[in-house]
Order: sequence, then C-alpha cells, then structure tokens
Amino acid sequence: MVKVNQNYLKLSKSYLFSTIAQKVGAYTKEHPDKQVLRLGIGDVTKPLTPTVISALHQAVDEMGQADRFRGYAPDLGYAFLRETIAKNDFAARDCDIEADEIFVSDGAKSDCGNMQEIFDEENTVGICDPVYPVYMDSNVMAGRKIVLMPCTEENGFIPEIPDPMPDIVYLCFPNNPTGTVIGKDKLQKWVDRANESGSVILYDAAYEAYIRTDSVHSIYECRGAKECAIEFHSFSKNAGFTGLRLGYAVVPKALVRENVSLHSLWARRHGTKYNGAPYIVQRAGEAVYSETGRAEIASLVDYYMENATMIRDGLKDAGFKVFGGVDAPYIWLKTPGQMSSWDFFDHLLTTANVVGTPGSGFGANGEGYFRLSAFGSHENTAEAVRRIRENI
Ligand code: PLP
Repeated sequence: MVKVNQNYLKLSKSYLFSTIAQKVGAYTKEHPDKQVLRLGIGDVTKPLTPTVISALHQAVDEMGQADRFRGYAPDLGYAFLRETIAKNDFAARDCDIEADEIFVSDGAKSDCGNMQEIFDEENTVGICDPVYPVYMDSNVMAGRKIVLMPCTEENGFIPEIPDPMPDIVYLCFPNNPTGTVIGKDKLQKWVDRANESGSVILYDAAYEAYIRTDSVHSIYECRGAKECAIEFHSFSKNAGFTGLRLGYAVVPKALVRENVSLHSLWARRHGTKYNGAPYIVQRAGEAVYSETGRAEIASLVDYYMENATMIRDGLKDAGFKVFGGVDAPYIWLKTPGQMSSWDFFDHLLTTANVVGTPGSGFGANGEGYFRLSAFGSHENTAEAVRRIRENI
C-alpha cells in the first residue's frame, strides 16, 4: 500500500481566502443591492501595457513562421532576457550579477516554493510572522523545523536576527503583508550574520518596483550578499504579468556551501523539473525593459501607489494607526479598539461593505491587524476609504 507524505498532514489548514470568499458570498446573497468593494486582493487590476501587448503579438506572429518558430525554450531562460535583466536590474544598480546567474521562471511563487529542494531536510528555517505563506508551507511539506521570527510594531515589522541564526532565512522586502521596507544597514547585518554562520538568505524582492525611498532594491546591494543570498523577482506586480506568468531567481556562482555550488544545484533542479517560460512571454518580459515599456510600467506602479497614499492618508487622518503604503502596495493597519482581525473584517463588510484581509490569516503576530491592498481603481479606493471613515 502506498504511503502518503506525512508532512503534508502537518500543514495548517489555510482557510484565509476561502473563509473570506464564503463570508462575502453569504453577505452579498443576503444583500444583493449592496456594492461590495474589494481591497483584499493581492492581484493587479490594470491591463497589460501597449508595449507588452505589441511584443506579445510580434512573438506570436514569429511562432507562425517556419524560420522563426521556437520549440522548447532553453530551460534556464533565453539569453536575450537574462542579459536584459542583468543589465537593467543589477548592473544599473552596481550589483555585480551576471546573466548566467539569472534563472528565468514562471514566477516568484514557484521559485520561493521550490528553492528549498536544494537544501537538506535537517536545516532549520527562519520565517517571519506574519508572512506570505509559501515559504512556510513549502518547508513544512519538506519536513523542516521552522523558527518563527516575530515582526511586530515594536521592531518596526523587521525581525530581530535570531540566535542561533537559522540555516535558511526567508526575508521579503517590500513586505507582504506589512508593507515594510528594510534599510541597507539593517540588511547588511543579516548578510554579515549569514556569512559568519554559513546560513543562506532567500530574499523575496517581488515588490521591489514599489520602492520610493532610498531603501534597497536588491540584497546584492549589500557587501558579501553574493556569498550568502538567493533572490526572487516577479513580473507580476510591476508589469501586471499575474496571468502571463514570468519571474526569475538569482543564484550567484559565488554561493557555495559544503564545497558545493548552489548555482549548479539549482541549474540541475530547474533544468530537470522545468521546461522554460514560453518564448512569447519572455519576449514580453524583455519589452518591459524598453524605454516605452519602462515608462508605462512606472505609470502603472504610480497609479497603484496613488491608491496606497489615498488609503494611508485617509485612514491616518481618521485616527487609524497605519503602516506600509509608502514603498509597497499594502497598508497594514491596527484594528481600532482592540478588535480582533476577523471581528474588524466582519464589521467592515457589514457596515462599510468593504473587504480587506484579516492580519491573523498571515500568522499569530498579525492578530489585531488588517491588510488593505492598493491594486484597485482610484474610484473604488476613494469610495472605500470614505466608507471606512464613516463607519468607525
Ligand atoms: N512573493 C510575494 C511576497 C507575493 O506576495 C507574491 C504574490 O502575491 C509572490 C511572491 C508571487 O509572485 P508571482 O506572481 O511571480 O508568482
């Protein structure tokens, strides 16, 4: 008789988004006349930009021509995209990352979830609380021991470096769900500690395009990061590729543990289990870095950040304690009057007809907090802020 992977039975049941959908469904069924505004989602709402669409069309046409048709993509990514990324995301920031240290993928979620496979099961794993759940669940599936790193108002939602330092540490800045960013000096301390202890930092930079202040865009801006860090990027939040699917991981060649190159291990893993992002999508990704592509993407991000400012300022002005929303499309707010995250969810749904995400769904330290997302339209965001202010 086959045995199932017992680690899967240890996963905590994720009721967050299904419970939200159920509650909203029940409410709208009972009140079909009410217009419910959704500020809970982490998905973008604006369409792909003209430059991206034109690159897609062109690549589709190539696929219909005998001499330009492409079959399997190189499993680590087309050189045209890897080189464009190396130049624009790294060389332009004085980060010494080469094109062949960039592994193109179908998005940051897969990379964040899969990267742990190259590490032994016995490693301890440091994970922030609250957190984007993929890091936690993929390591529970692998049977690893988790060390929770509390992110609280007291530490500015940036975890203290644990002692002892876990073998693997996941960090994500700008952060989902708290919207926090980390300064270079603080991140440098993590890098130094990882190099002292032989740990590896898995750095999720999926929201890097939202940084407005002088916070770090890439961990490779820190000294010594190439010796201890892997970084994840996504085309989802900057360019709206949530439906197209494209991302990349950086695994530097200088990252060596137990005399083994992690770059080689990941190349082996990625090449074995993945057949490459589609040609047309990689051409669309390349177009994001063109002059017009960049301008269009900047205006998409600006659009969402205007929503973030609207939410942040509107709620602050109404007496809420708010965090994030300056360098990130998420606003993390303290629920009023010690309300639990779910009580506040119910209150907002039934009085303001606004949907957000209860902070407790991201971890125990999220209790008493609530996440609002800036990915809606200006009109809906302004109306949601008005309604929340009226109903507290
Ligand atoms: N990393 C973080 C922190 C996220 O919030 C998300 C999506 O919400 C992802 C990664 C997933 O990105 P992708 O769409 O590239 O898989």
